[in-house]
Amino acid sequence: MKTWFTVDTDDLRHLPVHQGHPTRSKKPFTGSPERMSERFQQGWTGFHRWMATHDHAVTVFLITDLLEDPAFSPMFRETLRTYGRRITVGCHGHTHRSWSAWGEDRAGFEAMLVRSEAHLALCAEHHVRPWFRAPAGYVACWMAEGLAKHGFTVDSSVNPSWVVRSKTNGEGWDSVTAAMERVGLVERPWFTSWGMPANGPALFRFPLSVVARRAWRRLPPPLKAEEMDLVTQPDADVVTAYVHVLDFARNNGTWTPPLPRHHR
Ligand SMILES: [Zn+2]
Repeated sequence: MKTWFTVDTDDLRHLPVHQGHPTRSKKPFTGSPERMSERFQQGWTGFHRWMATHDHAVTVFLITDLLEDPAFSPMFRETLRTYGRRITVGCHGHTHRSWSAWGEDRAGFEAMLVRSEAHLALCAEHHVRPWFRAPAGYVACWMAEGLAKHGFTVDSSVNPSWVVRSKTNGEGWDSVTAAMERVGLVERPWFTSWGMPANGPALFRFPLSVVARRAWRRLPPPLKAEEMDLVTQPDADVVTAYVHVLDFARNNGTWTPPLPRHHR
């Protein structure tokens, strides 16, 4: 068994509290809508630095409107250049819209995929993989066909915990997984512990954090660059772990994921 380590690139402006969700987005974002926040830059620096402390492979799920900030591209390219084959890049939407929360919109979703993929092809070239993670985990069955039509082979949006079941718009995690598999995608659900979310935000939300941290310490060894094809193989035993770029800004930019010591 191996761990697929992934990092989502949400900046503060992308959070559902500010945008992209019909009922959760109540607080208009007061910072610049097109520029990275300082916190994000600090997080990116922390992520880049952390990469030098191990030799695992990491998939970055990119929100592609970040590339509209001229300061982001050079920073991103430098990380790609420095860590080479260890970094692969997947799609995390163009603007981080919570797609399933708005009801079915196949045309809008597909237009977003095309736009996002065009951005990725320009900036990340051979690092790009046809892998998708739904913004804020809002995924529904109708999205599967669009993903397949546009060449995606892996979806990693399912957070198989009852705590967040409403994100599938009432369809349930099993139905979403079945819809993805029906059209030929490999579903890579998020890592959970005792039926509770263990990824990303759960690491920092008490009391979920107690269980999540303990579970992280027991993760199997992370995939290396030459093993990344396992992600696309339906039978491969792979656990999907993720954190956010913004997490690396915690503790004054010194935070690192709580991986077992022997993985470093
Ligand atoms: Zn996100």
